[in-house]
Amino acid sequence: MLTAKEIRESFKSFFNSKGHQIVPSAPMVIKDDPTLMFTNAGMNQFKDIILGNVPARYKRVADSQKCLRVSGKHNDLEEVGLDTYHHTMFEMLGNWSFGDYFKKEAIDWAWEYLVDILKIDPDRLYATVFEGYAPEGLERDNEAASYWEKHLPASHIINGNRKDNFWEMGDTGPCGPCSEIHIDLRSDAERAQIDGVTLVNESHPQVIEIWNLVFMQYNRKADGSLEPLPAKVIDTGMGFERLCMALQGKTSNYDTDVFQPIIGAIGQLCGKKYGEDRQADIAMRVIADHVRTIAFSITDGQLPSNAKAGYVIRRILRRAVRYGYTFLGQHQAFIYTLIPTLIDTMGDAYPELISQKILIEKVIKEEEESFLRTLATGMKLLDKVMADTKEAGMDCINGKDAFTLYDTYGFPLDLTELILKENGLSVDTKEFDAQMQQQKERARNAAAIETGDWVVVKEGEPRFIGYDFTECDAEILRYRKIK
Ligand code: ATP
Ligand code: MG
Ligand code: MG
Ligand code: MG
Repeated sequence: MLTAKEIRESFKSFFNSKGHQIVPSAPMVIKDDPTLMFTNAGMNQFKDIILGNVPARYKRVADSQKCLRVSGKHNDLEEVGLDTYHHTMFEMLGNWSFGDYFKKEAIDWAWEYLVDILKIDPDRLYATVFEGYAPEGLERDNEAASYWEKHLPASHIINGNRKDNFWEMGDTGPCGPCSEIHIDLRSDAERAQIDGVTLVNESHPQVIEIWNLVFMQYNRKADGSLEPLPAKVIDTGMGFERLCMALQGKTSNYDTDVFQPIIGAIGQLCGKKYGEDRQADIAMRVIADHVRTIAFSITDGQLPSNAKAGYVIRRILRRAVRYGYTFLGQHQAFIYTLIPTLIDTMGDAYPELISQKILIEKVIKEEEESFLRTLATGMKLLDKVMADTKEAGMDCINGKDAFTLYDTYGFPLDLTELILKENGLSVDTKEFDAQMQQQKERARNAAAIETGDWVVVKEGEPRFIGYDFTECDAEILRYRKIK
């Protein structure tokens, strides 16, 4: 069985053998792009080449890119831990052609790598193809389909809609159809019951997308029309942890050697065994996932803080602490003690973890301790509020109480809602929002100095004074709307 390390290397060496320059991962934290806080796809670091702003040094490149999907267009945070194949931070394996090869090679090499090199059973693979979009005069991507037909039977080539199979960088700029490779990892018995084709793109945990091949062939102009792109681009991205799951015969990313050492370490710390209790398992997955995110954010220059990107990271860390506190009985700081295990598994590929070990541990430990103090006090209040609410025969807590928890104890509303949900209760969000509005007014009138868990004190710095004020909180609002 190939180890994660061998799989990462095999990808690079395969594309190197096809004339690709292997480049390092760009930092996960982005400091110079107002539209993006974190790298969320392999193509980010090549954006200027794709837009034609800078020439490509190499026409073919490949890499493994650290990605984070917790804000903006891609936000998987709420899935993480609950499902077994979305992470906050993950590695995206990718190969690119800047005005060099196009669909044929991209498809043939993807196939060669998965089937000839890695020996994945072709019977378990599916490819999606853009079905076309009449309002824009876009036709089905028959070209891609014709290349897939050399490898796959027609029944495994599936039409996909604009949402899944047409990629756009933004409102304007390069765009084009894509083909996604999906893999069916169910047992033979299960596969005999329902054809995998019906499960593709249906969020089935074992029939999942592993590789997206994007064919940028158009440029969308400001008036919305499309023109052919002078230098066509291939941009592919494959989920490394998902590939490891497929190759190691597992049905969850967390069962691979990417995560098992950390899961094992968490289990040992809290005296639990992974796989025995659903809630504890979720908590272990959340922590195993989040510790990577936080460690890599720190190495890449983003410490937890009260505003913007730093606040996103703080929220992720606090989510991990909260799960440990509630479901694993961890009332002391412990996440920082997982760093040596993380270094054992990822330090080879990402030596920045080794060189910054002390900083990572120190920052995480301090964050954990500070949040645990607030958490303990806030939990007491919330327990009382919940008991009082139930005693009064109601199933919805007062928005004012939720606001006090938020304002005084640093409980984000989503955290309060999560705890309430587990107790069969909800919160009056209208009242909460009204309180928030009043708070904003007060904040506006207040003197520059404020103290409290969520507030940056110094004048002149961005101040976090409420959820509506930070970039990441568009996400919380989105989350609330969905529910
Ligand atoms: P999904 O539909 O599973 O959310 P996606 O279509 O959003 O994936 P892409 O933007 O196409 O993903 O990214 C390329 C590849 O990166 C995907 O095919 C998948 O293997 C992997 N990937 C995407 N999001 C995640 C994530 N949150 N965690 C782990 N791997 C991911
Ligand atoms: Mg997604
Ligand atoms: Mg998808
Ligand atoms: Mg995709």
